[in-house]
Amino acid sequence: MERSTGQHRVERVGEAEGPAEELSRVLPAAQVFTRDSIRGEVLSDGSANRGVTGTADALVEPASAEEVAAVMAFCYDRDLPLVTRGGGTGLAGGAVPSGGVVLSLERMDKVRSIDPGLWRMEVEAGVTTGTVHRKALENGLLFPPDPGASEQSTIGGNVATNAGGPHAFRYGVTGRWVTGLEVVTPPGNIIRTGGAVRKDVAGLDLTNLMIGSEGTLGVVTAAWLRLVPAPEARGVVVAFFDGAESGCEAILAVMASGVQPTALEFLDRGTLASSLGSFPFDAPADPGFAVLAEADGSQTEVERVLAELNEAMGVGSETGAAMSALTITERSDADALWTWRDGVSYAVAAQRGGKISEDIVVPVDRLIDAVEGTVAIGERHGLEACSWGHAGDGNVHSTFLVDLSDPDQMKRGRAASSELFEMAIRLGGSISGEHGIGSLKTSHVKAALGDTVVNLQAEIKRAFDPKLLLNPGKKIPLV
Ligand SMILES: Cc1cc2nc3c(=O)[nH]c(=O)nc-3n(C[C@H](O)[C@H](O)[C@H](O)COP(=O)(O)OP(=O)(O)OC[C@H]3O[C@@H](n4cnc5c(N)ncnc54)[C@H](O)[C@@H]3O)c2cc1C
Repeated sequence: MERSTGQHRVERVGEAEGPAEELSRVLPAAQVFTRDSIRGEVLSDGSANRGVTGTADALVEPASAEEVAAVMAFCYDRDLPLVTRGGGTGLAGGAVPSGGVVLSLERMDKVRSIDPGLWRMEVEAGVTTGTVHRKALENGLLFPPDPGASEQSTIGGNVATNAGGPHAFRYGVTGRWVTGLEVVTPPGNIIRTGGAVRKDVAGLDLTNLMIGSEGTLGVVTAAWLRLVPAPEARGVVVAFFDGAESGCEAILAVMASGVQPTALEFLDRGTLASSLGSFPFDAPADPGFAVLAEADGSQTEVERVLAELNEAMGVGSETGAAMSALTITERSDADALWTWRDGVSYAVAAQRGGKISEDIVVPVDRLIDAVEGTVAIGERHGLEACSWGHAGDGNVHSTFLVDLSDPDQMKRGRAASSELFEMAIRLGGSISGEHGIGSLKTSHVKAALGDTVVNLQAEIKRAFDPKLLLNPGKKIPLV
């Protein structure tokens, strides 16, 4: 039997065949993997270190938007769940399947165009964040969003989670740098929202609706990105404090001073204890808190801002709060510092073999409550806890250390996370500042957003995906 679905024709073959065998008639056979031949890593993501894994009936690797549309038409015809996968670095279980078809954008890794004089680039969804950074820099330009794991994470994944990173403090999160998208929506239509334009207010803003939708509304196949001229220089102040209170006061002092750092990061005592061993510079013994504040711009501008940052944090003054500080101006030193910062998450996880790490967000003036509250919640559940994150954005990676093989510790870790989310909401914040909801936080969304907002979001989901096949059970509670 043959019938048409959306724009594509799907051949229906022997009912006894599994989805992978049938999909080999939709895509070239080399791009389709059966349940038995799927690589194990495709069944998990960055949340594997908290024990999250899944199952799938087939893995497909389409190489064009047309092939993505054909796969979606097939899934819609057969009522098969479709889980989109980028680099698999997500930390909320968003790309982890519970059966159905996994669609990897790995083969869609072309830079379609780069126009340096116009500060823009069009890339396919499977291009890595690191590649976009390098292509932009080779042309004297900057793509500011910088989520960690940039050599694995993809632009499609960054768009789907609206990823942030340290430099979001000045430059904003991924969505601010996307002017248009190519998306495949059910039952297999290729649509374009926005494009190579810098402004567009025609119709509802579907570009921004897709951004952060975590594969629940459509599959992003390409993005038009906005770039800016790369700064001439950058430098960082790293200031150490005896505790969270003086460190958080220094963060508020920086903000009140009117200086504009590009990144304003923090690490608490427990995080420093796990990660200072590989810190590439001298550090005081047993610091209670650290603040990283970066400046970029012209050489003169950077020197001025670094001096003002030091002054705002009381570095070197007799009454100053900082225990000690270092000012980094060499590019290679700054690179070494950020490489160390990227590895902090792994250093913390290594303490017990596993961690339950969240990404709550609170108003910046409640940062101290979130940092101290994280440790207190850990204590209540008998777990070591620490936090680090994007201080200027109030985005806290609250973390509970666990042994993955101990079911009791995992249970206590999950209970600690639930308490943490309640705390974030109580402090006027939210349950996720950058990693998204995925499968891990869906049950907490109603508490964060309320029934009316959740119902509106469910209606939007149904308008895009009437059969509810795209990334089912994730992001939007439907009951
Ligand atoms: C060490 C480390 C550091 C990190 N640091 C940060 C950070 O600083 N800031 C931050 O925000 N995140 C951070 N992350 C989380 C993660 O890297 C980001 O969420 C990233 O954007 C995910 O991209 P990905 O390609 O790996 O997506 P995946 O993990 O493959 O997928 C993430 C979600 O997006 C969906 N998706 C993926 N591609 C598409 C597509 N083309 N169309 C539709 N949906 C899609 C998936 O279904 C899933 O729901 C970090 C992760 C690690 C491991």
